Amino acid sequence: MKIVDGHCDALTKLYQQTKLDFNQDVLELDVSFPKLQKAGVKVQFFAIYLSESIPNPSFDHILQMIDIFHQKVTSHPQMRFIQSASDWLAIEQTEEIGAVLTLEGMDALAGNFTYLHILYHLGVRCAGVTWNYANWAADGIMEQRKGGFTKKGKLMLKEIESMGIIVDVSHLSVAGFWELVELYKKPFIASHSNAYHLCPHPRNLSDDQIKTIIQCKGLMGITFVPYFLDNAKSTVQISSILKHIDHICALGGESHVGFGSDFDGIEQWVKDLRHVGDYGNIIEALCKNYTESQVEAFLYGNWRNFMLRNLPK
Ligand SMILES: [Zn+2]
Repeated sequence: MKIVDGHCDALTKLYQQTKLDFNQDVLELDVSFPKLQKAGVKVQFFAIYLSESIPNPSFDHILQMIDIFHQKVTSHPQMRFIQSASDWLAIEQTEEIGAVLTLEGMDALAGNFTYLHILYHLGVRCAGVTWNYANWAADGIMEQRKGGFTKKGKLMLKEIESMGIIVDVSHLSVAGFWELVELYKKPFIASHSNAYHLCPHPRNLSDDQIKTIIQCKGLMGITFVPYFLDNAKSTVQISSILKHIDHICALGGESHVGFGSDFDGIEQWVKDLRHVGDYGNIIEALCKNYTESQVEAFLYGNWRNFMLRNLPK
């Protein structure tokens, strides 16, 4: 069964630990070519995330991470950079694995829309406005003042709407979310967030937010961060992931839910989900509870449909 994973931080590790080899099945990398191949992942999203350990992140750092993406990830003969719907359709005819390039937080763009355009030209196709804290565009979800977008941030939303970069609301503040709903008229995603109703962590989305994503024909990627799944338990099981899927389906989201693991961005893991190669354990659990076509949609079809509609042709 084919899989799409809508979020990982492997690029950050490859950037910080220069000896790591994406082509080797090493313990340090949750996402590597051998693990993607083992699991049957057909498309993996790779986030450009400038870790908090980089002081004063600049556009130059983003470019360095894009360089790493090409040197270490797309250089594999069986990996293909996906920038358009036709790229996606093309890999379905081959054994290749697709790689989508995304940006997690616009801090390093420093309000420069030319940088945003350059990222589009370089193939970035999804972008989160913030990480957890405030930047020039908006407040992140952990920012104490709980603000929304700045004036410049609102202008940015108009700019990005015309460009073909999909906006990602994971990490955005609640006020920012609702301002975005008013201002941004295209479908958007939450690449790695879960249901607040089941796990009241600020990074998760309320039922009203989830219903809004469904209404806009967007997509929500269930993430495997244990404390976003069940913050009452020290050991979180795959069954917790199924509860979030059940909940989103109950809100009408059966065609709008997929996965966004956050592998390589986490230091705790769900039991039996230590790395991307373990997706088979989710498939097994899903197949006990859902029909084959539902399981196919959660793992692949929903992300595929969304991306084919929203990527450049
Ligand atoms: Zn994140």
